[in-house]
Amino acid sequence: MSQETIFSKIINREIPADIQYEDDKALAFTDVNPQAPVHLLIIPKKPIATINDIAEEDRELVGHLFVVAAKIAAQKGFADEGYRVVMNCNDDGGQTVYHLHLHLLAGKAFGWPPYQDRIKRAE
Ligand code: AMP
Repeated sequence: MSQETIFSKIINREIPADIQYEDDKALAFTDVNPQAPVHLLIIPKKPIATINDIAEEDRELVGHLFVVAAKIAAQKGFADEGYRVVMNCNDDGGQTVYHLHLHLLAGKAFGWPPYQDRIKRAE
């Protein structure tokens, strides 16, 4: 499943973004609504909607997103202090943009669980 999203428009330079990293397979840019002092989104250039849409042939590509996360963490100097990566899937997972993306968050000490749960249905 693939469809035009705000992230494909960023890949195609149709809308601006604060791009921090790019290679032939992936792009990383600053989240417009940061939840930490550092909050980047690492996306594949291939449009994959959700984790559920990752195919066997995407194994290397998805692994590459984590390699990019570690590379950015080293380059920006927070690899040793630590950071968090998050990938949300569909509505209950909190996904709002349906182009696969890894959140890379750093610059503070994170608690667990990460977010207050939304109450889904009344008892
Ligand atoms: P998710 O809720 O996991 O789908 O994450 C989507 C993220 O995309 C959110 O953290 C948004 O703040 C971020 N976002 C939405 N539009 C843009 C944009 N134009 N540039 C950068 N980040 C964006």
